[in-house]
Amino acid sequence: MKPIERVVIIMAMKQEAQPLIEEYSFHKLPKIFDVELPMEAYHIDKEGIDITIILNGRDRDFQLDSVATQPATLAAFLAVQHFKPDLIINAGTAGGFAQRGSEIGDVYVSNRYIRYHDRRIPLPGFDKYGMGNYPCINASKLANVLDMKLANVSTGNSLDITPTDLAIINIETPVVKEMEAAAIAWIAHLYHIPFMAVKSITDLIDNDQAVEEEFIENLAIASNNLKKKMFSIIDYLVGKSIEEL
Ligand code: SAH
Repeated sequence: MKPIERVVIIMAMKQEAQPLIEEYSFHKLPKIFDVELPMEAYHIDKEGIDITIILNGRDRDFQLDSVATQPATLAAFLAVQHFKPDLIINAGTAGGFAQRGSEIGDVYVSNRYIRYHDRRIPLPGFDKYGMGNYPCINASKLANVLDMKLANVSTGNSLDITPTDLAIINIETPVVKEMEAAAIAWIAHLYHIPFMAVKSITDLIDNDQAVEEEFIENLAIASNNLKKKMFSIIDYLVGKSIEEL
């Protein structure tokens, strides 16, 4: 029951991270990663806990945030190599389902395991490999105390959704859909590092509005709510062990 000493928070988009970086006065760590890589690191010391945000950074060719699973995997590997965290948190935005009680700006904590919905490999054994089902910690006490909902997190490399993806996502309820958590959970699992995802809802998958419109419209409010909840989570972590979450 050792208190948590080092936490890495991995985030895909600058807009998602900016409110948190500003409010807590995280400072940028210069020259941490190879110059070829887009990832950036920001740091604070919070009452004895060393907290680092790794931002996936801007894609050099497209000048956009490096979203989706490829950069997320690399950011998680860098997190392990450079910071040896006791806990990895993937904070970001996600799509939710209105019919299962999601509202724009709700912030969810991951529950049970993180699954891929778009790695379909219908061969014996590979079907399960494709889905991943990587573990996350049981953070139900934290969710309860901080008034956050729990959901399975489902990851894929597309913002839109196909009927097949939807059928796979529908295996779980409640569930939120995003583009990074399973990649990070895989690295955390390989290195036996406790992992959790915290996801703020930008869009509702089961309404009539186009996801890209809704995402842009709600990104600011979702990121602000994410900041507030991450603020309470960071406070809550002080002096606690993983088992106490
Ligand atoms: N057009 C956007 C693209 C961002 S991609 C832009 O450039 O501003 C969407 C990001 O938000 C990903 O990091 C993903 O994890 C998350 N996300 C939010 N809602 C999602 C949804 N419905 N499906 C998949 N990912 C979603």
